[in-house]
Amino acid sequence: MTVKGLEKHTPMMQQYLRIKAENPDTLLFYRMGDFYELFFDDAKNASQLLDISLTKRGSSNGEPIPMAGVPYHAVEGYLAKLVQQGVSVAICEQIGDPATSKGPVERQVVRIVTPGTVSDEALLNERHDNLIAAIFHSGTKFGYATLDITSGRFMLSEPETEEAMQAELQRTSPAELLYPEDFSFLHLVEPIKGTRRRPLWEFELETARQQLTMQFGTRDLVGFGVENAEHGLCAAGCLLQYVKDTQRTALPHIRAITLDRKDHAVILDAATRRNLELTQNLAGGFDNTLASVLDHTATPMGSRLLKRWLHQPIRDHQQLNGRLDAIAAFKDAGLFVDVAGNLRNMGDLERILARLALRSARPRDLARMRTALQHLPELTDILSELEQSRIQQLAKDAAPMDEICELLERAIKENPPVVIRDGGVLAEGYNAELDEWRDLADGATRYLDELEQREREHHDIDSLKVGFNQVHGFYIQVSRGQSHLVPSHYVRRQTLKNAERYIIPELKEHEDKVLNSKSKALALEKKLWEELFDMLLPHLEQLQLIANALSELDVLANLAERADTLNYCRPELCEQTGIDITAGRHPVVEQVLSEPFIANPISLHRDRRMLIVTGPNMGGKSTYMRQTALIALMAHVGSFVPAEAVKIGPLDRIFTRIGASDDLASGRSTFMVEMTETANILHNATENSLVLMDEIGRGTSTYDGLSLAWASAEWLAEKIAAMTLFATHYFELTELPSLMDGLANVHLDAVEHGDDIAFMHAVQEGAASKSYGLAVASLAGVPKAVIKRAKTKLQQLEASGHQQAVKPAGGVPKEENQLTLIPEPSEVEEALSNINPDEMTPRQALDELYRLKALL
Ligand code: ADP
Repeated sequence: MTVKGLEKHTPMMQQYLRIKAENPDTLLFYRMGDFYELFFDDAKNASQLLDISLTKRGSSNGEPIPMAGVPYHAVEGYLAKLVQQGVSVAICEQIGDPATSKGPVERQVVRIVTPGTVSDEALLNERHDNLIAAIFHSGTKFGYATLDITSGRFMLSEPETEEAMQAELQRTSPAELLYPEDFSFLHLVEPIKGTRRRPLWEFELETARQQLTMQFGTRDLVGFGVENAEHGLCAAGCLLQYVKDTQRTALPHIRAITLDRKDHAVILDAATRRNLELTQNLAGGFDNTLASVLDHTATPMGSRLLKRWLHQPIRDHQQLNGRLDAIAAFKDAGLFVDVAGNLRNMGDLERILARLALRSARPRDLARMRTALQHLPELTDILSELEQSRIQQLAKDAAPMDEICELLERAIKENPPVVIRDGGVLAEGYNAELDEWRDLADGATRYLDELEQREREHHDIDSLKVGFNQVHGFYIQVSRGQSHLVPSHYVRRQTLKNAERYIIPELKEHEDKVLNSKSKALALEKKLWEELFDMLLPHLEQLQLIANALSELDVLANLAERADTLNYCRPELCEQTGIDITAGRHPVVEQVLSEPFIANPISLHRDRRMLIVTGPNMGGKSTYMRQTALIALMAHVGSFVPAEAVKIGPLDRIFTRIGASDDLASGRSTFMVEMTETANILHNATENSLVLMDEIGRGTSTYDGLSLAWASAEWLAEKIAAMTLFATHYFELTELPSLMDGLANVHLDAVEHGDDIAFMHAVQEGAASKSYGLAVASLAGVPKAVIKRAKTKLQQLEASGHQQAVKPAGGVPKEENQLTLIPEPSEVEEALSNINPDEMTPRQALDELYRLKALL
């Protein structure tokens, strides 16, 4: 690569500029001695991002060079900060030997740290997945690939609509997203912090196939069942090239790719995922979420798996029953305590293995891996008490690996230092040659003792001692009072207050040997350390199997413990559509309430598909609706659920339209957001979907709102027949059940005493009698005088306007007020239905299109 005007710079700056030109989009950390330095714009950016001071260095090309730097030993903290802000960093190290090189030492970018590809422990949140993703679009489909570099989990999917794509992005929430430079859905990409625009050729299908087969060492991709997922493959190809380019090392732990099939999952759209507060609450925090209640896992890898499960409920009853059986087995035997106790020793084996694969594992990683392996036999013992088949399978996967465990026991010291740099990691007795060099390096104390003894006697100086310090090396020390006795071949090295220190040729020789053996020992130790990786890597696949099994055992034992502690029941999965819950509770609200939670039943089935939920504000409507969705979701994660009994049939999707929140960032008003979400539900729900509609039509005028709510309710009940909970403050909707089959009214009970109101939070059949708005306002502290005035106003309104209020827009008399769901076909629709495209020439088709457009 050529850089313009390079010759005007100093040789070192020339080197810098050349390397920088190869890494234009990343900050370049350029190693100089004990610092990583940044120059020019990089320095300015880094000083802002990291809050470090911006200085100047000499001048190059006649101008002072802006510079900022971070000490190399503290680099991790700075990298963490940058990565969190979505910034990538190229680490440029000195490769050559400063002592022998002419001009600047040779330097090279050894790896690029990017938000989605970090594997260092210090840069990752241990209880959250960190994914890198690539997105692609052509024709009518998207292609989406994600990779967790810390586990090797490589997935692809092919969302067919923008909504589905958005839901995928929200579910996976990648730390870094690659997109093609001609990508036209930029609004999907924008909310993500670390986005990278990539050239189109990186998304070519042929290159992708080549890259992937090369990575997996297979002839084709048929075995992975992704052969025909061409959109997904294009994304996966770009992703893999990017990861290889940034890591600059082999990635042996990535050895398969899996297609995420939508028909296997209970689909949650982006809004639903947010509304149900699965792993993040609406304010963006992690408190009071389903995960915060359910996640008491013993290992970080278990915690991450549980969150993946919560975000990806499945439909396959056999698989779900496998999980439920395992949880029941742990719970009935009360073994979850023992299992959790054992698993606490397993640490984050999954991520340790990734660092092993990337050859970046630290000494303590291997020590922790040893601890994990040492505890496998005990786990096998505990699990042998359980007959359940899933548990037995996992126990088999996590069978002890005695040889590897023994190797690590022999190789690594009990408490090794953090890094291999200064040695002292490999244990004594592991390698005879290493032990010899180390003995020598440790000063061969016996030799020194002998020397001391001899010299003392020979010269008759009883204060004579042999010693060593870092600055001056070996010395012979004699007290000041006896210094006149030293022979002439003693050379003075240092004078202290009460003593003199000397050196003699023999001791100097010894010193050289010792220093030499120190560097010999260190070089050998580093070589042995690399060889240890070579010995471990062939077992990577089996070790990964263990890590996966441990994660799943952790989640299952954890769910058993939660079920036991929180008094959950096992849901019964049945073939017939419907949801039947006896005494259901909201898993999160029941944990945060100081008073007891009132359990409520629900029954939804073909003849009772939709419940119109009414009741005062604060009465518990949202809680009731959400708990139904959460119980349904938990059942499809394979967890026990907060209820006395639950029967639940097939479920394909959960939709929620809850609460009004302005999506200011994207410039959409509350009402627009509400209608977009409603449109999505009306288009995509099926009779096996669970739909929660809370207060739709609130963001517009009463008549508009009421009409929309009414029409949506009818459509859901009649056309779709979805299982629906429809909470509303439009009292008029309580008439629907008398007009249509399959609907029922329920209400949240409340009792009024004078101006006060007591919420019973109990669900009753039938519609609520009043909306209690004034009582709630009074409870909230609205001044008494205002409440009183509102009461008079209400009476006036009720007397004069009530008749009108129940009429829909247009003032149709009440008897006819059922809005017709499917209006008379319009002129355009009529014209369209008369067209036969097969019999038209392209010219006629175009003309027809113009005519239709004119009709609109
Ligand atoms: P609404 O949607 O009707 O306005 P919410 O569902 O938001 O009411 O409930 C309001 C509050 O009432 C909740 O924050 C919770 O404290 C309490 N609550 C709701 N349902 C119950 C229940 N079943 N048992 C006990 N308290 C409840």
